[in-house]
Amino acid sequence: MLPVHHIGAFDHPVRRLWAEAAEFLLPQRCLVCGRFGAALHARCLARLPAAEPPRCLRCWRPGPGAWCERCAAGGPATPVFDGLRTPFEFSGDARRAVLEAKFRGVTTLLPPLARSAAAVVPAEWAVEVVVPIPLARGRYRTRGYNQAEIVAREVARRLGVPLDTKRLRRIQETPPQASLGAEARATNLQGAFMASGADLPPPAGALLVDDVTTTGATFEAATRALRAAGTHRVYALALARED
Ligand SMILES: [Zn+2]
Ligand SMILES: [Zn+2]
Repeated sequence: MLPVHHIGAFDHPVRRLWAEAAEFLLPQRCLVCGRFGAALHARCLARLPAAEPPRCLRCWRPGPGAWCERCAAGGPATPVFDGLRTPFEFSGDARRAVLEAKFRGVTTLLPPLARSAAAVVPAEWAVEVVVPIPLARGRYRTRGYNQAEIVAREVARRLGVPLDTKRLRRIQETPPQASLGAEARATNLQGAFMASGADLPPPAGALLVDDVTTTGATFEAATRALRAAGTHRVYALALARED
């Protein structure tokens, strides 16, 4: 297994193909316990670091009270989406699982993680459609898959609502968010998304899905795009939140 600082190299198509071939040929080994038989056993999934309450019911920041200070104040710092949930913290084996899926092509980790994510979606959100955060076309070509879309597909199946991969487009290449500070992240994403679907009436309530969230800037930019196209209730779901 390569150290984490090599993970970027797996964006290279040849390495990705090799990783996929290896995944196909070798028996699966659980990320947590190392035993063969599954990418993540159910009992091992239950041992990942959970995003424990109490947390703000709007932005999912850890802290006491139903809403955090920022969201209760309702000022410009309040996130524009209507709610955020993640089943896990972005730490320990949950962090490893997300990174292995994103950079090393171990996409078999995503459906079990996605099932945990679907389980924390509040019923009162009344989601009508699940919309994955798209990758820019160039990045999609190099990586060969969109991890957010794989998660979103499983979430949609669990919730019994349609998946819509066409509604949102990433219209500009942006530097990877991980390389930027909080303020730069928000600026980096301004105008990054555009919602289409003028041919279809916009859904009243959409659930955006990504693999991991830090400042929420990606979800905010995508929420603005969906609202501009007529969807008013927009919620956000990721596998893990970097607190
Ligand atoms: Zn296991
Ligand atoms: Zn909050």
